[in-house]
Amino acid sequence: MKNANELVSLLHDPSPENAALVRRAYMFAEEAHRGQKRFSGEPYFIHVSAVAETLARMHMDAATIAAGILHDTIEDGGVPEEKIKKEFGNEIAFLVEGVTKLGKLKYRGLERHAESLRKFFVASSQDIRVVLIKLADRLHNVETLAHVREEKRRRIALETLEIYAPLADRLGMGRLKGALEDYSFPYAFPEEYRQTLELRGQKKTATEKNLLKVRRILQKELSKKGFTDFHSDYRVKHLYSLYKKLKRYDGDIEKIYDIVALRIIVPTVADCYKALGDIHALMRPLPGRIKDYIAFPKPNGYRSLHTTVFADDGGTVEIQIRTEEMHREAELGLAAHFAYKEAKTINPEWIRELAEWQKDVTESHEFLEHLKTDFFKNRIFVLTPLGEVIDLPEESSPIDFAYAVHTEIGDRAFGAKVNGKMISLDTKLKNGDMVEIITNKKSRPTAKWLTFTRTTLAKRNIRSSLLKK
Ligand code: MN
Repeated sequence: MKNANELVSLLHDPSPENAALVRRAYMFAEEAHRGQKRFSGEPYFIHVSAVAETLARMHMDAATIAAGILHDTIEDGGVPEEKIKKEFGNEIAFLVEGVTKLGKLKYRGLERHAESLRKFFVASSQDIRVVLIKLADRLHNVETLAHVREEKRRRIALETLEIYAPLADRLGMGRLKGALEDYSFPYAFPEEYRQTLELRGQKKTATEKNLLKVRRILQKELSKKGFTDFHSDYRVKHLYSLYKKLKRYDGDIEKIYDIVALRIIVPTVADCYKALGDIHALMRPLPGRIKDYIAFPKPNGYRSLHTTVFADDGGTVEIQIRTEEMHREAELGLAAHFAYKEAKTINPEWIRELAEWQKDVTESHEFLEHLKTDFFKNRIFVLTPLGEVIDLPEESSPIDFAYAVHTEIGDRAFGAKVNGKMISLDTKLKNGDMVEIITNKKSRPTAKWLTFTRTTLAKRNIRSSLLKK
């Protein structure tokens, strides 16, 4: 456990006010939780200081770190809300109350599940820092799952995989998402966990050897090409994300190229493209595996260039090329922006939309359905003829695209062109497609459209137009 000084030393901005604030919160929480114990028998305070430490390592601002230490003082420490307000002011009191209101999300069937999520999004739309504290709280809870009763343990693990990890992912927080998943995986699916672990072990050794060879070659060759300031490291794929990918490929590990991946970190965006060119001049790339997430970032903001090259003995190695800034963002996601004071409270557009949207949905199952299909699924990017990027769930059709652009375009859609060719309206769009909708004043949605549209937005519009007939 970190003491107050150690925690202060982790502050991104250790101004005297920030340091004093964190110290005060530390002492206050220590007092509030005195004598309380966790399941493990450890002092309760260990939990809240771990949460604060996680937030500090995410480079969060001092108010969030203080609220992190205080997050359980109302619910478990029995401190009245008013007292927090008086001692720490409105901003911190708001954060602590927000976390308290989110409460202990209970996983009891779908309806409860939807309700919990709904609360989550209302809180997020007010101040996203509430959600970041809750994620840090959950991280420590899954880290210490071994001490929890078995059936409760499985429930927490599942809930983490279904709600918290996808949320961290949506916020671009790769490191946190990976940790939440890997702590939960063995308790949620013990058998699958063992199998995946074994499979990764077998494959990793061979791939690692190739990777280290490619790394040595590139270090030498890129220096020759004028790259003086770059470094490389590599990462092993997180176990749970490997498991999910294996499921998509019918368990065929030979189809997965990124069990280990080499990362090349260069100073500028231009260097990224130059490095990609230089690498391809040296080693033959695998067709169809070159991805430009710089020009087309993933919906969660992830940026990098990816390519897979043949090593000289026929094996393959995935290479990810990025700048230092992209790297930091991929690890910390939304939190990366707090450290650089780009905004005190950043609310991504999608959280605002979701909060808006949930207000007029009365049925919990409809809300849950929306989250399942639109929110947590993989997304694709397609382009309008003017180059505007539209973000859609995988397997969306031109009709989903049309409604995403404008209701009127959806309602009057008559035909569609993808990359300049006429295609049928039920075609599944692919990442990077350029889509043009041909409209006709007399055209109207048909019930058939409901069978191939993917977004709730499109389905709702189609239904309401059918009712008007
Ligand atoms: Mn807690």
